[in-house]
Amino acid sequence: MRRAIYPGSFDPVTNGHLDIIQRGCKLFDEIIVAILVNPEKTPFFSVEERKDILAEVLKDIEQGGCKVVVDSFEGLLVQYAAEREAHAIVRGIRAISDYEYELQMALMNRRLSPNIETVFMMAHEAYSFISSRLVKEVFGLGGNISGLVPPSVEARLHARLPNQKFKGAS
Ligand code: ADP
Repeated sequence: MRRAIYPGSFDPVTNGHLDIIQRGCKLFDEIIVAILVNPEKTPFFSVEERKDILAEVLKDIEQGGCKVVVDSFEGLLVQYAAEREAHAIVRGIRAISDYEYELQMALMNRRLSPNIETVFMMAHEAYSFISSRLVKEVFGLGGNISGLVPPSVEARLHARLPNQKFKGAS
């Protein structure tokens, strides 16, 4: 039984995240999508909302034989991974700019917990420019974000920020 943790903010989940989950499913029997609860950050969606959104969108994606679970955690990732008896941490890499930070985290996590491997995955190039931060920024300014996030995420953003002015190309 190969279990991996895919940690992140998922504020909100994007099609880039979903692509990584689907690719991870080819390598692992179970993926725990774990929302990091960071008391120092003010998220757009609460942890409970992000959990609900993830559960909702994961119902619709092809997962093969792999089980995908949604959870949240606070504190050290390696401690959480040990508690959940996970063997690996999955992280997504978009561009070289992600690499430096991710490498630092992976090496620190390896030092803290040598038995847990970090696995870097690349999303499809069509998603490589997507980040939750950019999606929120573009949406807030009235830009079209369809195709970048699942439709239910778009609907939730509309419900939260109904003042969309500009309708760009899809
Ligand atoms: P964090 O705050 O931990 O970076 P995110 O929710 O932004 O949380 O991202 C979680 C993980 O998913 C990170 O490893 C990030 O690099 C990766 N990721 C986010 N968006 C994409 C994408 N479009 N393609 C590939 N990986 C992505």
